[in-house]
Amino acid sequence: MFLSHIFAKTTKESSAESGSANADLLERGGFIHKTMAGVYSYLPLGTRVLRKIEDILREEMDTIGSEVFLPSLAPVENWQKTGRFETVNVLFQATPANAFSAKHNDAQYVLGSTHEEIITPLVQRYCNSYQDFPTAAYQIQTKFRNEPRPKSGILRGREFRMKDLYSFHVSEEDMLDYFFHKAIPAYTAFFQRVGLGEKTDIVLASGGDFSKEYSREFQTRCETGEDLIFHVPGSDVFYNREIAPSKARVWDNSSEEEKPREDVVGKGIIGVEELAEFMKIEVERTSKTLLLETDAGQFVAAVVRGGYDVNEEKLCKVLSCRSVRLASADVVKKVTGAEVGYAGPIGLPDDVRVVWDESTAGRKNFECGANKTHEHSININFGRDIEEPEQFYDIKTAKEGDCDPESGKTYETFYGSEVGNVFTLYTKFSDSFGFTFTDKDGKQKPVYMGCYGIGTTRVMGVLAEVCHDEHGLLWPENVAPARVHIVPIAKKEEDAPYKEALDLYTQLEKKGVECLFDDRLGDTVGSRLADADLIGIPLRIVVSEKTLKGKGVEVKERKTGEVTLLSAKECMQKIFS
Ligand code: ATP
Ligand code: MG
Repeated sequence: MFLSHIFAKTTKESSAESGSANADLLERGGFIHKTMAGVYSYLPLGTRVLRKIEDILREEMDTIGSEVFLPSLAPVENWQKTGRFETVNVLFQATPANAFSAKHNDAQYVLGSTHEEIITPLVQRYCNSYQDFPTAAYQIQTKFRNEPRPKSGILRGREFRMKDLYSFHVSEEDMLDYFFHKAIPAYTAFFQRVGLGEKTDIVLASGGDFSKEYSREFQTRCETGEDLIFHVPGSDVFYNREIAPSKARVWDNSSEEEKPREDVVGKGIIGVEELAEFMKIEVERTSKTLLLETDAGQFVAAVVRGGYDVNEEKLCKVLSCRSVRLASADVVKKVTGAEVGYAGPIGLPDDVRVVWDESTAGRKNFECGANKTHEHSININFGRDIEEPEQFYDIKTAKEGDCDPESGKTYETFYGSEVGNVFTLYTKFSDSFGFTFTDKDGKQKPVYMGCYGIGTTRVMGVLAEVCHDEHGLLWPENVAPARVHIVPIAKKEEDAPYKEALDLYTQLEKKGVECLFDDRLGDTVGSRLADADLIGIPLRIVVSEKTLKGKGVEVKERKTGEVTLLSAKECMQKIFS
């Protein structure tokens, strides 16, 4: 590939927001261009990288499923059948853009954000006997999601590329076998091959409300990642914050004398930080009480120590319910007698179940809402002001500094970017479509499913985030837009360095080694070499009058910066070694 043939050029400036290395480097390097917020065009160099990532992915996925290509326009009815038309909060739809178009077809379609609604009835059409299972299919396609905050360049877009694979099974056992022994190893192999293996961990995450099994996320350690990961030191156990079991950092005031209870007016003060400051007490002494309602209509008061948040997923597990939601302001008023912000566990109606987090145990003289607007109770003590709970639970979202309850070790925490995930779906989608099979015994049984995603454009963005230095990108060899970047330093095409360089280029290309040839002789040498660093191809070869007078060519390893002078023959040997 000749650099002068590529219309897209490197630039000095990018439109990237600060802190987004991938957007900045990929834009300046001429890999992508921001069309609008969350929507990018992939330029010739970027398309090459993306294609390489996706080709490697195809090779790995072909070992566990077969490739298909599904439509982006989906019928609304399919989404209504699963109940997700109303609930998926990033769903886009396509409608006619103008009156002319509407005149001949006024239909409305859902734009594909994920494809369970298409693939489930599709496989159902062909697979009805136990002999047809297990089976799995995948595709690599553009997805559309109305993300509220597209950010970090191509890490989170409104339009992005994803590989999605779906598997179908006759039993839970078979689904789990595929999940653990086919999908996860194929994912591990893929991340290894694209050069992210060392930095990518398998993290336990929420399975959603339809799955008993945790999902697994492939999280690449990356400062710009959106997920906080909790690692149990010395083990291979990693949790996404959303589900990390947690034991609060110890705050022990058990030696204090019990003080008399007081109800204090703190007008309009509702946040624990503000409250602690106002009362001149430690945040740990305060309590946050939230009133929630379960899907079964039960009211629950969840109490956590100040500084923590209630984790709805953990709370659901304690209550054995599917979902909880915050009670409305009206309900809070009716149940607690106070406006939102002053709820407390003392004196609530009998039908409200109070669930205490373990972080609230063992405290003396603590604070809680008084169930009176603007009032807070202080110096509350278990046994005296309120019955000591029989059991404390873990219903809070973990924080940095918390311990893993099982090992007692303080978590190591870091940010990760979710490059892929694997989910067990059980019979959630097959139930919606009435997808059953005839088993050996002649009985109809539900089909078990799994789904497995990898964001290929996000993988490209994460590669840029973790593989760069102050001069530019450092592509791992398997995904680099080319293996060799050749820079002839000459005034004219007739000059010896240009001819030698072109000869090298022709030989390498003939042998299947992709090269980028910088034929922009009118540009300064400095800017061309800076571009080579920015573009980040693993090996740079410079041919100049000076190198020709010496051994022949100068070879630089982009990653280490190591420079060697070699003859043309030695150079070829190095490339093929
Ligand atoms: P996230 O938590 O990051 O929103 P998700 O849970 O919505 O991801 P899935 O719907 O399972 O993820 O999508 C599969 C993969 O697609 C993700 O692991 C991620 O790599 C990628 N992905 C998801 N949303 C986006 C997006 N808006 N832009 C780019 N890639 C995305
Ligand atoms: Mg998402």
